[in-house]
Amino acid sequence: MTRQRVVFGNWKLNGTRAEVDAWAACADEAAAAAADSVLVGVAPPAVWIERVAARVGAARVAAQNISEHARGAHTGELGAAMALEAGADWTLVGHSERRQLYGESDATVAAKVSAAFRAGLGVVLCVGETLEERERDATWAVVRRQIDLALPSPPPSLDRIAIAYEPVWAIGTGRTATPEQAQDVHSQIRGWLRARDMRAAAQVRVIYGGSVNADNATELFACEDVDGALVGGASLDPAQFAAICATAAAAR
Ligand code: PEP
Repeated sequence: MTRQRVVFGNWKLNGTRAEVDAWAACADEAAAAAADSVLVGVAPPAVWIERVAARVGAARVAAQNISEHARGAHTGELGAAMALEAGADWTLVGHSERRQLYGESDATVAAKVSAAFRAGLGVVLCVGETLEERERDATWAVVRRQIDLALPSPPPSLDRIAIAYEPVWAIGTGRTATPEQAQDVHSQIRGWLRARDMRAAAQVRVIYGGSVNADNATELFACEDVDGALVGGASLDPAQFAAICATAAAAR
């Protein structure tokens, strides 16, 4: 079965008002050009979600993070329903920067995934091992634990979940996993899904993140189980982001 590819740009803590307008316009053009073959989205800082959502038609908008709580005394947090109302229809959950810098545990990530689904947001669930974990051959044990604890079984609507395999050592470092390393973990994730639900294995998109750029996208997207990318740094360069989306559209 051919899965629609997914390319999301994660802008992290970047973007003036003028920059996000320009990036949103380019991402929307890239989404329109890729049409149905690629779901293209961007994840702006929370304060810009509404602005970006008002400026795109073809591209999807994701929150970078949501709270596990719906409302109440949680200063500084963003509720899933609020993100939805502001115009997001997806959210990232469990990005390694959230896990490492802000202490998000597997249990918190699981609660955030549930909160997102309850509100009606699609979820890009980020998983991945550190360099130390890879070096002691714990990659699959870590990734399996992160998915096991975060994804409800059976998952709700399968086209509203993407699993982003993002080796922590490849994020923002310029060091990309080789296509073989990416395919190896992606096929194990696919096997994990297959063991639970054949439909999930066929439909859930497994995307790669970690220093993806216009030069390495072709070989990564050529891997059988790589269904797209979560792009950080290169998504701040509209020409590169558009090239990655075009590469995804041309792949397979
Ligand atoms: C990310 O933030 O999810 C990411 C993959 O970043 P980068 O592409 O910069 O490595």
